[in-house]
Amino acid sequence: MRRTTIRPRHLAAPSVARRLVVSATALALATVTQLPAQQPAAPTRGTTASPSTARPAASTVARDLASYLPRARRLMKEAPFIDSHNDLPEMLQGRSGGDFSKEDPDGHIARLDTDLPRMVAGGVGGEFFAAFVPAIYDGKGAAKQALLQIDLIHRMTDRSPRLRWATTADDIVRAHKAGRIASLIGVEGGHAIENNLAVLRQFHALGVRYMTLTHGTTIPWADASTDRAVHGGLTPFGKEVVREMNRLGMMVDISHVSDGVMSDVARTSEAPLFFSHSSARALADHPRNVPDSILAIVGRKGGVVMANAYPGFVDPVAAEKMRNVFEVERQLRVKFNGDAAKVDSAFGAYINGPDIPHGTLAQYVDHIEHIIKVAGPGHVGIGADLGSLEIHPAGLEDVSKFPMVVAELLRRGHSEAEVKGIMGGNLLRVMRETEKVAARLQKVRGPSMATIAELDSARVTP
Ligand SMILES: [Zn+2]
Repeated sequence: MRRTTIRPRHLAAPSVARRLVVSATALALATVTQLPAQQPAAPTRGTTASPSTARPAASTVARDLASYLPRARRLMKEAPFIDSHNDLPEMLQGRSGGDFSKEDPDGHIARLDTDLPRMVAGGVGGEFFAAFVPAIYDGKGAAKQALLQIDLIHRMTDRSPRLRWATTADDIVRAHKAGRIASLIGVEGGHAIENNLAVLRQFHALGVRYMTLTHGTTIPWADASTDRAVHGGLTPFGKEVVREMNRLGMMVDISHVSDGVMSDVARTSEAPLFFSHSSARALADHPRNVPDSILAIVGRKGGVVMANAYPGFVDPVAAEKMRNVFEVERQLRVKFNGDAAKVDSAFGAYINGPDIPHGTLAQYVDHIEHIIKVAGPGHVGIGADLGSLEIHPAGLEDVSKFPMVVAELLRRGHSEAEVKGIMGGNLLRVMRETEKVAARLQKVRGPSMATIAELDSARVTP
C-alpha cells in the first residue's frame, strides 16, 4: 500500500513546484534507508538548504542525508529519543487478544510498523504506549478497555529484555543510560475514566502518565476536534479532571480535542501544555492539527507539541480527504450496529485507504520546523502515531526509521542541542515541570471528591 509516485491529483495541488522538490527528497529517503548506517561522512552542512528552497537530485540528497546518519545515531546514544504515541497495544489486543504466545512483540511482527526489535534498531530511548479506547466504548465498559491495554503494556514490559518501566523523566534518562527503552503509558480517550475521578487516580497508580482528554468523538465533559462542540470546550467537571490530573502529575494531553478545549486547558491547567500526537494545521488543514494561535500559546507557556506522522495529518491533500475521518467512524458505528470489532476493522481499512497520498519524511519534518517557527525550538517533539498505520510518509515506514528524522533535522542545519531537545529533551522538561506542579499541589490539596452529577447537573450532555 506504499506509494512513492505522485499521482496527477497531486500535480493539481497549489504548490506543484514544492511537491516536486519534496518528491525528490522522498525518493532519496526511500533510497537512503537501504544504506548501512555507517556511511563515510561527507558533511555538507549549511550547503544544502531546506527542501523547500533547494532542488538537489535525489541521489545527491540520499548521499547527503546518509552522511548525517552517524551523527544522528551518536546523538540518539547521548540523549534519549522519546516517541510519545504508539498504538502497538491496541493492535496486539485486537489481533491476538494480547496473547504473546500467539504474537510476540519481542519478535518480528508481520504487517505492523512496530515491534520491539525494530524499536531498538530505530534507536528509541523512550516510548509512550497508548492504551487506546475507541469512542464506541463510551458508556459501555470504557475503563475495562483501558485496563486490558494497561495490563498488556505491563506484561509486555515485565517480560521484555529491551524495555524498562518508567513513570518519571528521571526514569527515562536512567533506562536510556542502561541501554533499555523506557516504557510508559498514555491513556487515549477521557471516556476511559467513566466520568469518575477515582478511576483517573487508579490509572495514575497503574503508571499512566498522560491522558488524551477525548478521541474523535465528543464525550460528556469535553468536545472533540472532529465532532460537534456541544459544551463550548470543557464542562465544569472537565475542568476538575484537568485540576486532578495536575495534582496527580499526569500530563493533560490535548491532541484530539476541540480548539475550545485547548483554550480551556490553557486557562485551567497549571502544568505546561502537551499534545502527544498532533501536527501543524497551517501545513495540513485538519481539525486534529494545532492552529498557529494555539502554537503561540504553547510557546509562551512552555508546552510541547509532539508531531504526528499519519499521512492524513501531514500531507495537505490527505488532510482534505481525511477531514471527516471521525464522522465516517460514527457512521460505521451505526452501520455495524455498535459491533466494535467490525467498526474497528472497517475504520482501519478507511484510514489506511489506497486513495490517500502518503506524504514524505521531509514533509513530516516540515511540520516540526513550522512548530519551531511559531512556538520555538524548545516546544516540539516526536509523537509519530505509528503502531497501527499501514500507510506512512515515504522514508518513515516503521519505527526503525526514526534516525532518518534526526538525520534530516541535522541536514537542515539545526544545532545538536536543538535536535536533542526535539528528540526528547523538550518532553523531559515538560514532564519535570508537570511533576513539580504535582508535588506543589499535593501539599495543598487532597484527592478531589467532585462528581459529574454535582458539577454538570445543569448541563445537557450528549
Ligand atoms: Zn490518536
